[in-house]
Amino acid sequence: MALGEFELIDKYFTRPVRRAALGVGDDCALLVPAPGTQLAVSTDLLIEGRHFLSTVLPERLGHKALAVNLSDLAACGARPLGFTLGLSLPQPDEAWLEGFARGLFALAERHGCELVGGDTTRGPLAISITVFGEVPAGQALLRSGARPGDDVYVSGTLGDARLALEVFRGAVSLPGEDFDRVRRAMELPQPRVALGAALRGIATAAVDVSDGFAGDLGHVLRRSGVGATIEAEALPRSAVLARQPPEWQRRCTLTGGDDYELVFTAPAARRTEVEAAAREAGVPVTRVGRIDAEPGLRVLGPEGRPLAADLHTFDHFKTP
Ligand code: ADP
Ligand code: MG
Repeated sequence: MALGEFELIDKYFTRPVRRAALGVGDDCALLVPAPGTQLAVSTDLLIEGRHFLSTVLPERLGHKALAVNLSDLAACGARPLGFTLGLSLPQPDEAWLEGFARGLFALAERHGCELVGGDTTRGPLAISITVFGEVPAGQALLRSGARPGDDVYVSGTLGDARLALEVFRGAVSLPGEDFDRVRRAMELPQPRVALGAALRGIATAAVDVSDGFAGDLGHVLRRSGVGATIEAEALPRSAVLARQPPEWQRRCTLTGGDDYELVFTAPAARRTEVEAAAREAGVPVTRVGRIDAEPGLRVLGPEGRPLAADLHTFDHFKTP
């Protein structure tokens, strides 16, 4: 190892902290959540080959590793405070480390989220980040609050990340420019932190889309003890995805995954407040259905006919 463990941490992962009382370099970091707030904590583990492709640029990987964690804070309506980084590396490749750190800190700085500690070891490439955020006590958005009659919304667009993955797998081919756009969606997701915070006190439940819209909405439905009716045609999609065959559009939007958009519910009486929150956050939101008392997810296709359940409960693309 040309670069030792502590040199590596010093050179690439030690930055001065402003909000934390103590950052990298001691046995613990010290965070200072504002009085009256609760600490929101979430961890994601990313393994090469399973969660990202070896072809991804290190800068984009640094971005995505933090983005998926910030997305969890967003879904709770929490504001980021800081994060820790667990890093397993086959070798201390400086070009890789430099790119990875650049992507990681660019996103971290945009969200005022400081790196305060971590652990570094030699091993297969894997990245585990734990984020810490703060949320006014009792105001976190949970999966359990959806009520019959609520509207169901989704932010941004769905399905591009899955479309990009299918291009990598060779199942779909796209013109170069279209591929670049969906590849950005897959590799550079934008966590909806401002939207999550703006929805506190308005949304009744929220979740971020990591496994796919139908599956993640399903978590909200089960935790809330309700069901939902969704219009497949209403699910927002990019111009690139909208040019694909209808079957692909349906599957990518309903079961795609890796979108990191927010799916949330809100009472129908609060539509103007939802729109104001979306404007304030600068993120489009689309109303895609409603919450019902009857458990289960019903997806309506063209002309309001129910789609076969296997189109959204079973993912045909997914490899075991
Ligand atoms: P300890 O043995 O007490 O757990 P280490 O010797 O592993 O601490 O790490 C030294 C310091 O460097 C600690 O403050 C730790 O949080 C920090 N650190 C280690 N790896 C990373 C990393 N990848 N990113 C940020 N900080 C790190
Ligand atoms: Mg250690």
